[in-house]
Amino acid sequence: RKGNVIVTGASSGLGLATAKALAETGRWNVIMACRDFLKAEKAAKSAGMAKESYQVMHLDLASLDSVRQFVKNFRQSGLPLDVLVCNAAVYFPTAKEPTYTADGFEMSVGVNHLGHFLLARELLEDLKASDYPARRLIIVGSITGTTRTRCIPSIEAHPLTRASPCVLPGAPGNTNTLAGNIPPKANLGDLRGLAGGLNGLGGSTMIDGGEFDGAKAYKDSKVCNMLTMQEFHRRYHEETGVTFASLYPGCIATTGLFREHVALFRLLFPPFQKYITKGFVSEEEAGKRLAQVVSDPSLTKSGVYWSWNSNSASFENQLSEEASDPEKAQRLWQLSEKLVGLA
Ligand code: NDP
Repeated sequence: RKGNVIVTGASSGLGLATAKALAETGRWNVIMACRDFLKAEKAAKSAGMAKESYQVMHLDLASLDSVRQFVKNFRQSGLPLDVLVCNAAVYFPTAKEPTYTADGFEMSVGVNHLGHFLLARELLEDLKASDYPARRLIIVGSITGTTRTRCIPSIEAHPLTRASPCVLPGAPGNTNTLAGNIPPKANLGDLRGLAGGLNGLGGSTMIDGGEFDGAKAYKDSKVCNMLTMQEFHRRYHEETGVTFASLYPGCIATTGLFREHVALFRLLFPPFQKYITKGFVSEEEAGKRLAQVVSDPSLTKSGVYWSWNSNSASFENQLSEEASDPEKAQRLWQLSEKLVGLA
């Protein structure tokens, strides 16, 4: 039978390119889990995806009710679940004030981490129940939180790239690259803001308890994604045989992720990536990379953070100190469970 893969945020950018790459193999039925049903249908059509290769199901990660409803709808479809790809994300680099999910969490961490955390926890049962030989749970990471980068440090320090999520590792513990020390750096601190509910009501909207900073909130959320993947691996890999993986697909400077950025940045960022840092990958190439993590029989190792070198060969990347801290991962897991109503 065909494999069934859920891809969140498959209506644009990396998610759409991945959905298309998988659909084209003829071996996958892609469930496009999207907040805008019509946009996703149109995107699939204009990408040339064959009607029988996909279906769109509504999922708004900015609402825990919507996540639970999605899980119900998916189960009602009667399809087994073989691979889950947590890909969707929002990024608000220029926001002066936080925005909030339906449950009152700061939006970047609420969507990128907490919505996906609930989704992945719920759907683990379905992955367990599948008879597919290579069941996988993939959470898209970012270069934030890695120790190695293909970008040139002196270029990364350029003010134009300062708020970019991908040229700028900005990770705590990432002290072996100059860029790792350029603010805003990801830093979850002692998670006091998360413990306080991340809603600004008497506490902070930032995980570390600090002042709101949209670019940092995105980077923090990506560190959460990578910690979550590893905690899943530690808790469930042996018991379930499910492969847990994360990846940095490369800097895809053309996607909608940069839609909130200032116009000049949006104009200059793609050529800057292409010709100067050479970190640029097309959406199509990035989609193939993620599709490889979904389906390549050689990428079955669990707990791995995949990256690609300039020849497009995959390798196991190293995570920064914070993004690989098991105690932090466990605390993040417990606090996230409380916030999404699992504990
Ligand atoms: P896009 O903005 O193109 O895609 C993001 C997707 O997430 C869209 O489909 C969007 O839906 C969806 N989404 C946003 N909010 C929600 C929500 N509340 N519920 C459901 N879906 C939602 O960005 P990219 O393709 O670049 O990003 C995809 C992933 O790649 C992210 O995890 C990002 O962190 C990661 N990444 C990207 C890099 C890059 O250089 N672009 C580099 C490293 C990692 P809609 O179409 O309705 O807006």
